Amino acid sequence: MSQVRLQQITKSFGSVTVIPPLDLDIADREFVVLVGPSGCGKTTTLRMIAGLETATSGSIRIGDRDVTDLRPGLRNCSMVFQNYALYPHMTVAENIGYGMKVRGTPKAEIEKAVTDAARILNLGAYLNRKPSALSGGQRQRVAIGRAIVRQPDVFLFDEPLSNLDAKLRIEMRTEIKLLHRRLQTTAVYVTHDQVEAMTMADRVVVMNQGRIEQAADPITLYEAPANLFVAAFIGAPSMNFLEGRLERGDGGMQFIADGDVAVAIPENRAEKLGAYVGKAVVLGIRPEHTMATDANAPTVRLIVRDIEPLGPHTLALGRVGPAAFTAQVHAASRIGPDDQIAVPIETEKMHFFLKETGGAIG
Ligand code: ATP
Repeated sequence: MSQVRLQQITKSFGSVTVIPPLDLDIADREFVVLVGPSGCGKTTTLRMIAGLETATSGSIRIGDRDVTDLRPGLRNCSMVFQNYALYPHMTVAENIGYGMKVRGTPKAEIEKAVTDAARILNLGAYLNRKPSALSGGQRQRVAIGRAIVRQPDVFLFDEPLSNLDAKLRIEMRTEIKLLHRRLQTTAVYVTHDQVEAMTMADRVVVMNQGRIEQAADPITLYEAPANLFVAAFIGAPSMNFLEGRLERGDGGMQFIADGDVAVAIPENRAEKLGAYVGKAVVLGIRPEHTMATDANAPTVRLIVRDIEPLGPHTLALGRVGPAAFTAQVHAASRIGPDDQIAVPIETEKMHFFLKETGGAIG
């Protein structure tokens, strides 16, 4: 069993604390992705698991071992780096087998492990080449091969696809997923790319300023973000936010905001929101939820500034009152800059947050 448990882990560099006490449990065989903006502490967290960075306080367990004070070589983790970190003077086979050779593994055993890894990663034809004669994707596969042959308890990936072009990144995304499905090794993967996180992870951990904002499976993050930070971070294009307040009148509950925004709240959602009437709240609407077909759907008035035709549909970018707003519209729509359009909202897909705390309220 190779679960990873971080308990009250902190990290300070000098007087600057970059990770306040952080708890995270990663299950055996789970593929967890740490995601967040630059500088939020994901790499530092990963390096603490690897032992490349010492935790200032707290404990780290891998399986049934407390590894907090173990040096990296004794933790049985394999790390794959963004820059591949291959030895340029060695062949692919030598690069993959190097760690085993250093540990004194018999030659025949190394050869078998290297051949097996090369087969899994489609590198069989390149075993005698030097890294300089490989493409970026092939180099990254060699780096992954080197990690595989160690048969680690845990794979650690630090932005492994960042140096690849967009097409290759998508291909390698799938390869790493399939590899995980095949090897079933616990994996912790760091990226700043939320699409990569959503498409690869069993569970995504969204970090911000050293803290975990939310840890959940991708669909839960998308459908039920815990707060404004996660709501804004997950999803592309980003969720729209309108600041206003909830009011209760004769006709039921409404969300009111600048720009003549008055959105009727469906009864089934009003009950939960009742406690927040009169308070400053933020309404979140994803661009893909602005094509309600119900004739009674509430609308907001979008003043269009630009149009982005994407093929299947078009994005209309502009403002609703003072707020920037992006709406998805039919590809056939004949709208253009300076038009004002009524955007029908899918009320079941609306998100509400309390402005003061940023926390989701319904
Ligand atoms: P990125 O996506 O840009 O790699 P990240 O989320 O991985 O960002 P970290 O590299 O973990 O972020 O850095 C977290 C914070 O710790 C940053 O503010 C960074 O400047 C700081 N930091 C990291 N390493 C050191 C160091 N050796 N000395 C001082 N500060 C550091």
